[in-house]
Amino acid sequence: MSIGDDYAVCTSCGLQFPSVEPPEFCPLSHDNRSSFRGLPEGWTTLAELRKTEHHNVIRQDGEFMGLCTSPSLNFGQRGFIVPWGDSNLMWDMVPYFDDDTYERIQELGGLKGIAISHPHFFSTMIEWADRFDVPIYIHEDNRPWVFRPSERIHFWSGESFKLDDDMTLVRTGGHFAGSQILHIASKKTVLVADSVNLVSDPGFVSFEYGWAQIIPTDEEAVRQVVAAYEPYEFETIVGGWWDQRITGNYETIRRSGDRFIAALRGDLAARNVGMSPASSAAYAV
Ligand SMILES: [Zn+2]
Ligand SMILES: [Zn+2]
Repeated sequence: MSIGDDYAVCTSCGLQFPSVEPPEFCPLSHDNRSSFRGLPEGWTTLAELRKTEHHNVIRQDGEFMGLCTSPSLNFGQRGFIVPWGDSNLMWDMVPYFDDDTYERIQELGGLKGIAISHPHFFSTMIEWADRFDVPIYIHEDNRPWVFRPSERIHFWSGESFKLDDDMTLVRTGGHFAGSQILHIASKKTVLVADSVNLVSDPGFVSFEYGWAQIIPTDEEAVRQVVAAYEPYEFETIVGGWWDQRITGNYETIRRSGDRFIAALRGDLAARNVGMSPASSAAYAV
């Protein structure tokens, strides 16, 4: 039993508020970067969700153990249980949490900390942190999106925060001012969530302000995101949903950014009009 079992959880985005009585509306779901995914706006609680068929699936996803709720809830995101010293880091998370999830993560070595890329995945983070007795690492610029305050939360500032010699949180901005990624040097991997979006073309990434409606970020934000990746060496870019990964490095991010900015300016469409595939490739940014 936790005090938060009966706290209001938004049925759309999964964000938990610090009271049984829900707020007038969920600010995160009413933000234009979110969507209701066709769901009526409403409220539930962890106690209510535990009476349903929902449960968490933990399985290998590439290098790490992934965690996702089934049937899918909210954004359908997948978190990662990333080995960290003799324990693990929970990278991003899902709103649903129960005893079974806790025990299975304990069997994998438990948690030493939690880091969350951006507010869409803040969900029930305090419940998790309290149960595992660990800190949560969030960029200072995302403080306005924390509605359930807790001493568990460590707000870091600046452009990067080293968890240890191998793992670094990097503020990229873009989607949210405090959007962060996790760089794992030994794996030459970045876990990016919505900092950049993996798309159907595996040679590129995209830059969305609002993913649900595919609203692009502006040119300045694209430049900020691209610059944030430059100091880091990586060969694999991993997204926030099951099996989302591409082979790519800083050059992938840079040329995606150049192309994206050309598209924002109308240049890309102009170059492609009336061209054969070969000639438009020659003009590709
Ligand atoms: Zn919401
Ligand atoms: Zn997002």
